[in-house]
Amino acid sequence: MQYLSELMATQQATKGKILIVDDQPLNIKILHQLFHEEYEMFMATSGEQALQVCQKMQPDLVLLDIEMPEMTGYEVCQRLKADPATANIGVIFITAHFDEMEEVKGFQLGAVDFIHKPINPIITSARVKNQYLLKRQSDVLHSIALLDSLTGVANRRQFEQRLPEIWRHCSRNQAYLSVIMLDVDFFKRYNDRYGHQEGDQCLRLVADAVKGMLKRPNDLIARYGGEEFICILPEAKLSGAMRLAQAMVDAVHALHLEHLDSEFGEVTVSAGIAAIQPLAEQSWESLVEVADQQLYIAKHNGRNQVVGIDIEPAQ
Ligand code: GH3
Ligand code: MG
Ligand code: MG
Ligand code: MG
Repeated sequence: MQYLSELMATQQATKGKILIVDDQPLNIKILHQLFHEEYEMFMATSGEQALQVCQKMQPDLVLLDIEMPEMTGYEVCQRLKADPATANIGVIFITAHFDEMEEVKGFQLGAVDFIHKPINPIITSARVKNQYLLKRQSDVLHSIALLDSLTGVANRRQFEQRLPEIWRHCSRNQAYLSVIMLDVDFFKRYNDRYGHQEGDQCLRLVADAVKGMLKRPNDLIARYGGEEFICILPEAKLSGAMRLAQAMVDAVHALHLEHLDSEFGEVTVSAGIAAIQPLAEQSWESLVEVADQQLYIAKHNGRNQVVGIDIEPAQ
């Protein structure tokens, strides 16, 4: 569970991020003074600006004024919650006066708390801190739910969430998208000879070696099933994906993990690659299917190798 302590340590080492949204700069100043030492601060004086900052900076919390010209705080909250990219940001409304119906509406829209003006520093600090701690805990749980517990790489669920998102992104930008399907060679025999625990350890080492070859921040590696891993490479053509897959195959071989029941004498993997220029209306499942077929060919051709294909655009 080493990746878990790494996850917690990274989180504790980073400052929380707070966005203050108010059409009156003086109100922003008061809240800024209260929090700037402990948190990384962002400011916005309109709803539109607030939405942009949320997309870009991903704050943990938004302290959101309700009454603003053009877009009200309610509408900002509604739009944050409607977008999966910003739905997890905690919204605390700041209101000029106590009004029960106003608060009911705010909570129904997904806010986590209310703070009343004039700002009481102690109450406001305590409420913000509580919500920040809750947000951090929920972030950790969220990350764990999307990780494979054996290897610490993304799990199948995360893969299934991300691929359609990346597919849409690439189709919007008319970019290529490649996937690499990797499978450990003769792994049944490995388990039979060395035992299941050694098998598990082998999977961890293979996952680390493969992951170590990814260089771009938007690339993703996930455990697809038993001894199979899948990589999503946005904006990668077949040639680039083939080079990367070969580097992965080489990296696993370079671990020199003994496997006396493999014809290579060491643990190896095979890779199948499919590349496409996705169209929004096409389904992404075919990309995985084709990569799997390529993997099958790599196995058939003798394993410890890479085979890939470009999927031609549908006419
Ligand atoms: P090939 O080279 O054709 O891929 O052969 P293979 O033996 O790797 O493929 P096969 O699908 O026959 O066997 C996969 C084996 O992987 C079966 C199972 O014992 C092992 N395996 C799957 N998941 C795990 C796991 O989580 N831990 C361990 N230790 N072994 C696993
Ligand atoms: Mg206002
Ligand atoms: Mg397999
Ligand atoms: Mg296998």
